[in-house]
Amino acid sequence: MALKSIDDCCADAECKATHPKKQICPSCGGEHTEVSARTIAHHIKQSWQWGEHAQKYFFCDNPHCDVVYFGENNITILMPQLRTKVGIKERSDEALLCYCFGVTRTDVMNDPCIKDFVVEKTKQKICSCETSNPSGRCCLKQFPNNPDIQ
Ligand SMILES: [Zn+2]
Repeated sequence: MALKSIDDCCADAECKATHPKKQICPSCGGEHTEVSARTIAHHIKQSWQWGEHAQKYFFCDNPHCDVVYFGENNITILMPQLRTKVGIKERSDEALLCYCFGVTRTDVMNDPCIKDFVVEKTKQKICSCETSNPSGRCCLKQFPNNPDIQ
């Protein structure tokens, strides 16, 4: 029998129950995706005092919610507890869209070609989204398709 891929595994109802990939944010009620403890450790203040590694964590990407991370047991980590400003929650022009290469919203508005640079670096796999981006996901997801609309 062929090995199951991760996707196959999580299409299985029984597996979903033991490995939830999404959970409801205790603050805003939105359903959000899992993030690794490795990501959180790179953004939380006084990481050495953060002792909650055992459970699963989720990243709330709701721009209007103060919660950045929440655990399976609904423990929350708020914006002031992080040393990184979360670009999608702070709608300033200086908010970072790409944490790997330090690209701000203003940079992209002034020069949309920067996105091509980031795409290129991502293809070359020299980005570091899992640890640099507080979402733990690819920075390109946060780039506006048309910066003028954002
Ligand atoms: Zn939330």
